Amino acid sequence: MTEKESNLAHTARKEIVGKIEKAARIAGRKPSDVRLIAVSKTRDSGEIRTLLEAGHRVFGENRVQEAADKWPALRADYPDTELHMIGQLQSNKAADAVALFDCIHSLDRPSLIKALAKEMDRQERKIPCFLQVNIGEEPQKGGCDIAAVPKLLEQAREYGLSVIGLMAVPPDDANPAPYFALLAKLAGDHDLKQLSMGMSGDFETAIKLGATHVRVGTALFGPRPA
Ligand SMILES: *Cc1c(COP(=O)(O)O)cnc(C)c1O
Repeated sequence: MTEKESNLAHTARKEIVGKIEKAARIAGRKPSDVRLIAVSKTRDSGEIRTLLEAGHRVFGENRVQEAADKWPALRADYPDTELHMIGQLQSNKAADAVALFDCIHSLDRPSLIKALAKEMDRQERKIPCFLQVNIGEEPQKGGCDIAAVPKLLEQAREYGLSVIGLMAVPPDDANPAPYFALLAKLAGDHDLKQLSMGMSGDFETAIKLGATHVRVGTALFGPRPA
């Protein structure tokens, strides 16, 4: 990475942090209540290091294998990094996921609840989770049905998982605001305090509607290769 590219990454981060603070203030919220997760999927270690060098410590990946390839070395240099799993998770990757990540945003079915609970017990490592909701009821998307939320929360509790909030990705082609509002309402109904919602194109809207965790990739790193 050249010095120019590195300066660009610093500038992009500053700009986003400024927009987050402004959106939070407009919503009457504390900027410190919103976490910026830098989504580093498809980015190489050099690109990620520029953000680490800029002081950023919260990152998100969507694949266990890719995270396992990149993060042990990065973490050796930056041990206070917090790593979030934001992609669909197969139950047979639960062991690796529990070992690697500090938070899982994609809990969405009973088999995954069981697999993660078992691994957290075995590794004696409890990590907080978000229940992912398929908020636009799209067949191709991850996340549970809206109607399944109460049952899954109850199941997670039975298995001793700590579910701290709800996560969703609204439909691509629609105004995201009503979906964010619906997710916030669902979370409130279940007394869940955290909301993982908002990406590069809509994180300010998400913050105005209550997001506590925004997941931003492109706006920080530039366009992803196709
Ligand atoms: C890739 C991804 C993001 C980041 O998307 P950008 O549009 O690049 O900000 C956020 N959330 C999830 C679940 C993702 O897979």
